[in-house]
Amino acid sequence: MRHIRFLPLLAAVVFSACAQASPDQQFVNDAAAAIGGAERVFAVRTLVLEGEGTQYNLGQDVTPEARGQTFTVADMTQVIDVPDRRMRVEMTRRPNFTYFQGPQPQRLVNGIDGAVGYNVAPGGAATRVPDAVATERRIAVLHHPIAAVYAARDAMSRRANPRTEGNESLLDVTTADGVAFTLAIDATTKLPTRVTSRADNTNLGDVVMETRFADYQDAGGLQSPTRLTVSVDDFTTAEYRIAKQTISGDARDLAVPADAAKATPPPPPTVAVEELAPGIWYLAGGSHHSVLVEFGDHLTLIEAPQNDARALAVIARAREINPKKPLTELVNSHHHFDHSGGIRAAIAEGLTIITHQGNVALFENVAKRPHTIVPDALQKSPKPAMIRGIGEDTTLSDSAMTVQLLPYSGPHSETMLVAYFPRERLLVEADVYNPGGQVFMFAKPFLEWVQTRNLRIDRMVPLHAKVAPYAQFVKEASLPVPTATN
Ligand SMILES: [Zn+2]
Repeated sequence: MRHIRFLPLLAAVVFSACAQASPDQQFVNDAAAAIGGAERVFAVRTLVLEGEGTQYNLGQDVTPEARGQTFTVADMTQVIDVPDRRMRVEMTRRPNFTYFQGPQPQRLVNGIDGAVGYNVAPGGAATRVPDAVATERRIAVLHHPIAAVYAARDAMSRRANPRTEGNESLLDVTTADGVAFTLAIDATTKLPTRVTSRADNTNLGDVVMETRFADYQDAGGLQSPTRLTVSVDDFTTAEYRIAKQTISGDARDLAVPADAAKATPPPPPTVAVEELAPGIWYLAGGSHHSVLVEFGDHLTLIEAPQNDARALAVIARAREINPKKPLTELVNSHHHFDHSGGIRAAIAEGLTIITHQGNVALFENVAKRPHTIVPDALQKSPKPAMIRGIGEDTTLSDSAMTVQLLPYSGPHSETMLVAYFPRERLLVEADVYNPGGQVFMFAKPFLEWVQTRNLRIDRMVPLHAKVAPYAQFVKEASLPVPTATN
């Protein structure tokens, strides 16, 4: 990026020298003029935005339709290197709902420098994030009007399709390094109203990431928005209010930390097999596990988590364990995106999906959505989705195996299934009890529910962490949970 830093100046000269600007040039000239003039926009080196806001919990709320879970964001600082398109964001985030890691505020630090995205842990250790996350951040850098107009004017950027729709004029822009966005400006004031980009989401496939701009204020002679609303399709993911804006002031070091700089390709998914009882296998992964169940004439898998890579590895391993019986079904624990990221892979592999009835509409939609930006298994070999909703206790049983699927509604998820094996006295669950953890935010209500159901359990089989004796569950569920400090 650095080598093209001075080219936009040249472009600015060319633009103004033209007697008649082309429509796309005129669009950019208008937007730059509204913000404060091309000269000023082009002199910007850095933006430092300080503020607060609210984040929502896309894919992780209590039901697929719920929008109520929020995080309060405070002490947020977003630093953008406009010419080189580097960014670092720091914020403190406090959950306003019963959260996995407890109610304590968390300090989050993340950044993007070139193609490298990274997170910095509270202790200072930096880790590189997957390329898909880095791609999202390369897009996010351009979701500010000053950065977007700057990039749009870049002589190396491709501009296309200037048009007017309703009260907005729009222009499609693709940067020299391939980041595409659409800049919308108010048709009258010419101030940028929003930036949209197409992006890939593991669960939702092709999505539109959008940032809307409002409440423009003067910042060092430039107009800059103090209200930013971020969404993925029709789901608002964050609302930020900017209290202080500094243009080309003292910015922090935005270089990628040394320990995150070197590329470490993600390890291939591994599946560690452990036989829990005759006909029941634990298919363990790094963070998310599955369980394979053998019936008289078929196999049933519990959980296809994370993404295609994980789910396909688990499905392949399941078929290796017993190649004589067809794998026909997948039981999904709950809709949370990390636990349902392999649903589409399972459909592509011909499995019938069994889930809580509250998740059926979501999964039917997920099965139909296009994944053209990053084609997944189902995009490459489309199959109709077969989805069976479970609304009450349901027994899957034949001469070889019996498993009960029990709907469970708790503070973590209201559309959850747990799998109870009465003969083997095993209980398979996701998220509500992770044995050996630091805090147990959901274990107590879950234990109470288990007790009212009179389930006879020897071992808990969690889809995170490790298999644990029931006595450990009772003990850990009884530990006091942390409460908010303020
Ligand atoms: Zn969950």
